[in-house]
Amino acid sequence: MTDIRDDVREGFAALYGYEPSGIWSAPGRVNLIGEHTDYNEGFVLPLAINRRTVLALGLREDRIARVASAFADEVVEIDLAELSPERLSGWAAYPLGVAWALGERGADLAAVPGFDIFIESDVPVGAGLSSSAAIESAVAIALNDVWQLGLDRSTLALVGQLAENKVVGAPTGIMDQSASLLGRKDSAVFLDCRTLDAQIIDLGFEAAGLVLLIIDTGVSHSHATGGYAERRASCELGARELGVSALRDVSVDDLPRAREVLDDVTFRRVRHVVTENQRVLDTVRTLREQGAGAIGDLLDASHVSMRDDFEISVAELDLAVETAQSNGALGARMTGGGFGGAAIALIRAEDLSRLQVAIDGAFAEHGYGRPDTFVVTAAQGASREP
Ligand code: ADP
Ligand code: MG
Repeated sequence: MTDIRDDVREGFAALYGYEPSGIWSAPGRVNLIGEHTDYNEGFVLPLAINRRTVLALGLREDRIARVASAFADEVVEIDLAELSPERLSGWAAYPLGVAWALGERGADLAAVPGFDIFIESDVPVGAGLSSSAAIESAVAIALNDVWQLGLDRSTLALVGQLAENKVVGAPTGIMDQSASLLGRKDSAVFLDCRTLDAQIIDLGFEAAGLVLLIIDTGVSHSHATGGYAERRASCELGARELGVSALRDVSVDDLPRAREVLDDVTFRRVRHVVTENQRVLDTVRTLREQGAGAIGDLLDASHVSMRDDFEISVAELDLAVETAQSNGALGARMTGGGFGGAAIALIRAEDLSRLQVAIDGAFAEHGYGRPDTFVVTAAQGASREP
């Protein structure tokens, strides 16, 4: 953390030739449970992780915005007067899309000063840990501060989502930005995606002697195209045919009727969302009443539902989950949008090294690339750095 902060300050000065006015950061997130429920106005339970996107920002006297990232070998420059979704593309659509979205949410883009931004990150990109929300949230809190907009964190989450939906063109929900902005140490964010009501839920992993292992399969996914949008369309179709505004309004008890009304594929998509919502509620209750040691079966059931009903898993994710389950994990599931990315395993600290060895062995045996495995802890959300 300290390293990236220093790097980003130095990188900024080397690139732009002056000292930044401040450093801001925002974490990636991992979703403990509640997958593809966010855009169905349901429940999610993500946590902000100890991997962060850090940026240095300097205000300018003109109206030019420049963004650069250690991730990309270019400086992208635009006049704030010309900011629009059509003018933005590539990685710069994330940070500059946030500037545009702030304009949609009340910033007077004709009056605010221009800025220079330099970004570095240790959130793995495309691993399902939401490097996209990390960059959006870091830019959102930084501009909210220096432009003195006074927007609260829930509004900044909506700003990040707007940028991702309208500028990047990925039809994602509100979960990632909420986790990145609202997360707390040792806690998960229990978010009602309809009301945007957020509650901080104590995880108590450390006290229970548990760690959360990320297994990044290295299989890349893309939200902007293909499966994600298709799954979303299936959910909308299911809701329409069941006569509700969102699948949030369908309960587990309604499923027998849904099976009669819907075609098989749509029914299974709906069943995933409906049962996943219930699993989030059950996980929150279990965490409160029995503690983290008792949530493993819910994680396992979530994976089965994504694999068989929502059909968003891939062979590498299934292998990661099965290997975790047969090597001491209390529970394991793929996490994130699917079609690649990472799995999580909840495991006793003393079983961790055995599991890591088993995963490497299983992937090698199947001829898959070596996955990246690392432990994450629940961290503080977006913040201004000292
Ligand atoms: P993820 O699961 O990591 O959120 P996405 O495809 O949603 O994957 O977002 C990844 C994209 O976000 C990258 O391809 C890049 O365009 C942008 N991005 C993320 N982090 C950075 C960064 N540090 N610097 C520049 N662009 C970034
Ligand atoms: Mg993303």
